[in-house]
Amino acid sequence: MTLDVRLFPCLSDNYGFLIRDADTGRVAAVDAPDPDAILADLEASGWGRLDMILNTHWHPDHTAGNERLKAETGCEIVGPEEVRRAAPLDRVVAGGDVVELGATRFEVTDAPGHTLGHVVYRSQADRAAFVGDVLFALGCGRLFEGTPEQMWTSLQILAAWPDETVVWCAHEYTASNARFALSLDDSAAMQAHAEAIFAARERGQPTVPTTIAVEKRLNPFLRARDVQEFAARRAAKDAFRR
Ligand code: ZN
Ligand code: FE
Repeated sequence: MTLDVRLFPCLSDNYGFLIRDADTGRVAAVDAPDPDAILADLEASGWGRLDMILNTHWHPDHTAGNERLKAETGCEIVGPEEVRRAAPLDRVVAGGDVVELGATRFEVTDAPGHTLGHVVYRSQADRAAFVGDVLFALGCGRLFEGTPEQMWTSLQILAAWPDETVVWCAHEYTASNARFALSLDDSAAMQAHAEAIFAARERGQPTVPTTIAVEKRLNPFLRARDVQEFAARRAAKDAFRR
């Protein structure tokens, strides 16, 4: 079994993802930030079909394309109930469910905090996870709906995944996140990692995906000692302007 992943920038700082189960050729979009960008990448991929959208949460920069992609491709839209606040949804999923894309099995995990119904999708066999706006490279999502306790608990679940898990985050926020991380930790390891990120961004290259191993080592939100320190760091990042 193999999962092919295509990542492409859309809107101002989102990533769109098209994924393909190589055994069966079934194709899904993870979230639907921009239907034009997704249809253009689908054309470029040569994959020839869109079977499914996997929404992570209801925010418009993740669901705006649901209606048009369904109208143009007939795809099934899968996601948490909260998606209905913003866009059409065919099949409701929640933590503990499994979504099959051909031979690829995605386990659904509830990860509230950024929104209350946010879910993440992980294929253990492919060591790949799509985490929406829960975990970013060196960062985490803002607490728009949930409490620090909820987000902290969600991040702990992700941190317990195997180190080699490849984490596909939904936004390119890494340079800003790296400046914040450096304000807390100016060790040689953090400086080297941040320099690599700044250089990649100057070349116009994405810094996504990351891995659980890297994030456990360097992400200031995963490195918080407890929920109080996590909450303080989240508040400090919200006010951080650099
Ligand atoms: Zn969001
Ligand atoms: Fe978002």
